[in-house]
Amino acid sequence: MSKPTNTRSPSTPHRTSQGNRDFRKRTQREVRPATSSRSVPVAGDATAQAAIILKEGREKSLLRRHPWVFSGAIERIDGTPVSGDTLQVVDSTGKFVAQAAYNAGSQITARVWSWNPEEAIDTAFFRRKIATAIAGRTGLNLQKDSSGMRLIHAESDGLPGLIVDQYGDVLVMQIGSAGIEHWREQIADILQELCNPACIYERSDSDSRTLEGLELRCGVLRGTLPDTVEVIEHGLRFRVDVADGQKTGFYLDQRDNRKLTETLAEGRDVLNCFCYTGGFSLYALRGGAKSVLSMDASGEALHIATDNLTRNNLDESRAEWQEADVFVALRKLRDQGKTFDMIILDPPKFAPTAAFAEKAARGYKDINLLGFKLLRPGGLLFTYSCSGGISEELFQKIIAGAALDAGVDAQIVRHLHASGDHPVLLSFPEGAYLKGLLLRVAD
Ligand code: SAH
Repeated sequence: MSKPTNTRSPSTPHRTSQGNRDFRKRTQREVRPATSSRSVPVAGDATAQAAIILKEGREKSLLRRHPWVFSGAIERIDGTPVSGDTLQVVDSTGKFVAQAAYNAGSQITARVWSWNPEEAIDTAFFRRKIATAIAGRTGLNLQKDSSGMRLIHAESDGLPGLIVDQYGDVLVMQIGSAGIEHWREQIADILQELCNPACIYERSDSDSRTLEGLELRCGVLRGTLPDTVEVIEHGLRFRVDVADGQKTGFYLDQRDNRKLTETLAEGRDVLNCFCYTGGFSLYALRGGAKSVLSMDASGEALHIATDNLTRNNLDESRAEWQEADVFVALRKLRDQGKTFDMIILDPPKFAPTAAFAEKAARGYKDINLLGFKLLRPGGLLFTYSCSGGISEELFQKIIAGAALDAGVDAQIVRHLHASGDHPVLLSFPEGAYLKGLLLRVAD
């Protein structure tokens, strides 16, 4: 995978919207929301006068503390802000609503930093937010026998667009918003100061960056990247390819679900689809599975998976790895009359946004239908969706349709979600991207 190392300025030229053109005719005095009782200039920012004026009634979601300002909700933009600047968001009467980071190139034109007009958005603000996120996790006892942790989960930790994953003494930072991009260096300094890692590696190459109008960028931000990065999870060791692996190198969100798989695997023939570097497979093997067949389309991921097996001294004779397209391979297994006691389906994101939901639904239905057909009576299906565009309710409906078409009766045994280091802010349900079901088919 090629990794551009662009270090362009975080600020992109602003969109020449009607709103901006409107403003240039105005005087500085008029820029300030005149009727706001609590409006203050944005601290520490050259564009102290800049503001987003919302259309009438469009402050409602913000008043419920949903942290996004969509372009369609904006009446006009006062001032000449550039992407990454902090702006005031005011309602149509000029009353303060929030302080937010501007992004001229995104449908999400601003993401909220603070609901407090007095709070300075400065280095101390980011230090506070980051320290709070880290301290909150420490208090949840999440790190038992583990050296991996999502330290910052973007909007849900009050830092829209910032992901920080910890793998031992390496931190991987992913930036998905213009606001975080603007404060990137300060954030790296704070992480260095608070966590003292050997390396902070930037993996700002997610698809969402393109939607945000941000260029892709990867590379060492602080320190030196060790030759091998390893994460320990519930005592199992996994090699993490932070530079070229998927996401930030590992799927920390499935930690608790992998552990659950281990507890149910004993004596079972297991099929792990979309296995990546072997997460669920290794847990199933440690849990005493009779056999584990693992499939993934990525040869590199499978290479690491077999290495992980060796790292953990697990019994290779019970493990089989297949480089395959799961959609094709499941049909082959069905045609061969193969069956399993436990199947794990953890596909990649089929629907990044709701616009892709219909196509994604077909994909989920297809693999789950085949999964149901391959399960022996009384067998267990762990099925997941990490698509932000598919709600938990819709996912359950898709799975119900798949079971019906497969001609099996199944019960939900557990509703599954991401681990506790991926918290979901109540006012930001979009944070609950990972949903899963543990199902048991009838005997
Ligand atoms: N369960 C894994 C994470 C899965 S991520 C864990 O616990 O770590 C999704 C995986 O699906 C990726 O490894 C990707 O390479 C793989 N993938 C994507 N499309 C695929 C396809 N059509 N067939 C097989 N694997 C696919």
